[in-house]
Amino acid sequence: MNEGEEPVEEHARLREALGPLALGHLDGAEADRVRAHLDGCADCRADLAEIAPLSARLAALDLEALETPPAPPPDLGRAIRAQVAEERAAREADEADELARARARNRRRGVLRAGLAAAVVVAVAGLGFGVGRTVGPDEATSPWEPLSVRTVPGVQVSDAGLVPHTWGTELRITGEGFTAGETYRAVFRAADGSWSPAGEFVGVGEAEMTCNLQSALLREDAIAVAVTDDDGRRVLFSRL
Ligand SMILES: [Zn+2]
Repeated sequence: MNEGEEPVEEHARLREALGPLALGHLDGAEADRVRAHLDGCADCRADLAEIAPLSARLAALDLEALETPPAPPPDLGRAIRAQVAEERAAREADEADELARARARNRRRGVLRAGLAAAVVVAVAGLGFGVGRTVGPDEATSPWEPLSVRTVPGVQVSDAGLVPHTWGTELRITGEGFTAGETYRAVFRAADGSWSPAGEFVGVGEAEMTCNLQSALLREDAIAVAVTDDDGRRVLFSRL
């Protein structure tokens, strides 16, 4: 070892500079200092000889990276699209599962919505020959007249009432047990004994449903209201 003239720290610094020297990263003055040391230090020359091939390969890699950026494999675009599609499909499947679970949890509510929609459609369709409009000018101030109704076993009404309008009378009922798929008809009875149609709705079984049923018969002329099933059997009745 021929390093007696340099402090240990200085020699360590010079050895650490061998790598930068091999890569050509040292400025001229520092490179000269390291080379001068190499002339008198066999250990450092040996180290430099060891790292030189590696340095050359590193420099070559740097150069390749700079000059010829690696081309993507020809199928990369398709592979990425396929992977994206696969992940999207998996995500959508997860969401579909979640949706199915949510639907199962909310089946009752969903059936109610379906029943409501059917009832509204039927009620509006019923107005075609009944009243011809759905909202009267007195809608905002219409009083609500609670009704006590009698029902057949199996049909349970939790809420029922009348809303008198300038154009007729509206029956609102909330209940369950109307046989799923069966068509029910609401009618008001007038003092002269005639029956006035108030629209139809489709039962949704055990799910609770709310129906708005409208008749052209004015409230002051109505003395009773009834709902009948497909067979004309009375399932709900209230004397007014
Ligand atoms: Zn040395």
